[in-house]
Amino acid sequence: MSAGEGTQASNLIGGEPVDSAGGERIDVVCPSDGAVFASIARSAAPDVDAAVASARRAFEDGPWSRMTATERGRILTRLGELVDANRDELAALESRDTGKPARQGVADVTAACRYYEYYGGAADKVHGSQIPFLDGYLAFTTREPHGVVAGIIPWNYPLQILARVAGAALAMGNTLVVKPAEDASLTTVRIAELALEAGCPPGVFNVVTGYGTEAGAPLSAHPGVDYVTFTGSTATGTAIQQAAAINNRGVTMELGGKSPQIVFADADLEAALPVVVNAIIQNGGQTCSAGSRVLIERPVYGAFTAELAKRFAALVAQPHYRDGDLGPLINRLQADRVAGFVAEAEAAGATVLARGSVAADAPEGGCYQAPVLFGDVDPQSKLAREEVFGPVLAAFAFDGEDEAVTLANGTEYGLVAGVWTSDGGRQHRVAKRIRAGQVYVNAYGAGGGIELPFGGFGKSGHGREKGFEALIDMSAAKTTVFNHG
Ligand code: NAP
Ligand code: MG
Repeated sequence: MSAGEGTQASNLIGGEPVDSAGGERIDVVCPSDGAVFASIARSAAPDVDAAVASARRAFEDGPWSRMTATERGRILTRLGELVDANRDELAALESRDTGKPARQGVADVTAACRYYEYYGGAADKVHGSQIPFLDGYLAFTTREPHGVVAGIIPWNYPLQILARVAGAALAMGNTLVVKPAEDASLTTVRIAELALEAGCPPGVFNVVTGYGTEAGAPLSAHPGVDYVTFTGSTATGTAIQQAAAINNRGVTMELGGKSPQIVFADADLEAALPVVVNAIIQNGGQTCSAGSRVLIERPVYGAFTAELAKRFAALVAQPHYRDGDLGPLINRLQADRVAGFVAEAEAAGATVLARGSVAADAPEGGCYQAPVLFGDVDPQSKLAREEVFGPVLAAFAFDGEDEAVTLANGTEYGLVAGVWTSDGGRQHRVAKRIRAGQVYVNAYGAGGGIELPFGGFGKSGHGREKGFEALIDMSAAKTTVFNHG
């Protein structure tokens, strides 16, 4: 039987599977063929209330916040082992639910395991410091959990994004209420069940499924939530920050990007080519850190775009089970949105340098979009400035370092950048001038990078996830002062 067939997923509140109070359900659709294969609970404010109350009890009364950090770490490590033990099931489910190629589902499970392993190991290595203060006093800091953390997760990498949020939040002793995207909730429910099996006390890891406006909005505005972490669109991020502000709660915002790869004429072009292609094709371009702009130094613009065009023309979108270059997009709305971007860019005068294809026998109900490479893109155009979130790459020519940096920094986003050059001095100069949360030199990390702090400047958000830095965001410093005379 195919992955997840017939699953009727429930919320997980207080360690128990429960239906939504309203009893309604949402169909789960496979984007590869448009077929309904499972359902999730359609939750609303009363379900969010129950989940937050459960997380609050687990935080205040339960063993979790009084447990040693070592023991919490062991539970996370065990969770990673259980994810690994269930890797085939989880990878197949993620792939079917999101339409991502089978190997990407496997890569996402591998990354999720690493997050739980990393944060399991890190849990008892976060400590405060003793501060030199007045004579007769002892002053020190400890890292305290926020309390109840709300995690609002998008549909592009549910397994990975859940793991980086839950790993860091739980390591620091917080309890969790997670609202996955209604387009891809199945693996989140499964991971919360595995967390129970790994030894997470009931109520520590709650999941409420449903629509953003019905379940996500009351969660982000809930007075019982102490901290909100969100990954998704800038517009929704703004709404969530406004909701969290009602209660003056802290937030981590991991929003979109329009990330540039800068290719200088002296770069190893052969090495850059496959990385530039993969950075926009991986997950069908539905990656916040997708390399969606390529800036090419003019002497090699023609040659480099010609090679890119060859590769783009050969790309084929296929159903997830074919494990092709890319799968369908997540849903019809996103596919139409991306097709609209492409049509608008063409109408505005951008040149299509190459277009990939959709497999001729791809199921009709699927949400496919052929990859498109654009050249001669106007840096002021919508295509140059806004996140497409699809397999669409915009190429620009530049002259020299200054123009490269101006173009690279020329959007309101600042998430990730790649710099390709063999000149050591230039590598440092350009990397330093780029305004982005991560800069790669002669490399590009779309997704992955468990150990590397990740987050944006400007419209790409604030706060940091991944790496050790996330543990700082998922806790707050508390200063204690003793007057010992
Ligand atoms: P989205 O609205 O940002 O959704 C992300 C998460 O927020 C989902 O769980 C969503 O729930 C929830 N949500 C939606 N409205 C909410 C609200 N008012 N309050 C609380 N939570 C809410 O993303 P989308 O609409 O699915 O995609 C639109 C665009 O967002 C994409 O084209 C892309 O540009 C961007 N995006 C970026 C990332 C990223 O990783 N940076 C990820 C996904 C999307 P439901 O989906 O269940 O409604
Ligand atoms: Mg789905």
